[in-house]
Amino acid sequence: MIIVTEPTATEEQIERIIARVHEFGLEAQVNRDGARVIVGVIGPEPMVREKPLAAMPGVESVFPAAKPYRLAGRESRGTASTVDICGLSIGAESAIALICGPCSVESRERMLSIARTLKDSGARMLRGGAFKPRTSPYSFQGLREEGLRFLAEARNETGLPVITEVMDARDLPVVERYADCLQIGARNMQNFSLLREVGRSHLPVLLKRGFGATVNELILSAEYILNEGNTKLMLCERGIRTFETATRYTLDLSAVPLLKAKTHLPIVVDPTHAVGLREFIPQMAIASIAAGADAIMLEVHDSPGCAKSDGEQALLPDTFTKLVPRLRAVANAIGRDL
Ligand code: PEP
Ligand code: MN
Repeated sequence: MIIVTEPTATEEQIERIIARVHEFGLEAQVNRDGARVIVGVIGPEPMVREKPLAAMPGVESVFPAAKPYRLAGRESRGTASTVDICGLSIGAESAIALICGPCSVESRERMLSIARTLKDSGARMLRGGAFKPRTSPYSFQGLREEGLRFLAEARNETGLPVITEVMDARDLPVVERYADCLQIGARNMQNFSLLREVGRSHLPVLLKRGFGATVNELILSAEYILNEGNTKLMLCERGIRTFETATRYTLDLSAVPLLKAKTHLPIVVDPTHAVGLREFIPQMAIASIAAGADAIMLEVHDSPGCAKSDGEQALLPDTFTKLVPRLRAVANAIGRDL
């Protein structure tokens, strides 16, 4: 919502308008445009809409913001935002973070041993699915709460924050008990009721792009989360479906600069699910950093031949360890740390 003041409004009236916005628990973005003051009111949309601000002395008009991306849009904030996950900062000027782990949490021992190796090699966050969105209902569906426990144990031992997918709003309370960051998978990018639920969570969220979704649709899904008040949001490019079938999906790297221009949100790239073939993932991870990603998600497994999901695309720990300095070199070349 935009409030425009009368040209004759006094400083005192303007201060009172801004104070009222704050009283409602909303944010006021103040711009001076000649004699008028333009106040952008930021907060959950239904809350903003119901506020009786038009009748205040000094107010000339109140109208809804016309921008399609009211909260995710770059202009709503001006600068790029960062998301803090247990002390790990992702976005803007922060170091590029590597988010790594197996596709699924498979056992306590495996999760702990992969986590130790990843920590030693330079990963900054651990991933692992406990609720798995599988194409076939007969495939491994995840260890559920037991998997979350193993993931939390790996976090406690290594100190690395953990991210895991929440597939169903009914599982959110249990996932929140163990995880440091929620992942919304590609298949749920437009599950609007789930987006609203995680929008009310206290945890940061990584929203993955649906493989049939446009950049515009991804940003509008982000609005659902932001609109509920959760501003700790990151977007993830993970490949889209094209006519090309030689790779699992097609990594849309041009989405990275595009999303950075259109939004203020940190952008993560997951080359693993996009390429789907172990051999070509390092090259695309390097390219993702060059394209401007704030974090890279990579699946790593110590025995991919026995993995319960996505084994063909998991990097071996040794490949990951050797890749890290190459990623760092590219990051440094574009003026960023890793
Ligand atoms: C995953 O990260 O394990 C996953 C299932 O990813 P996506 O939702 O991108 O397919
Ligand atoms: Mn996977």
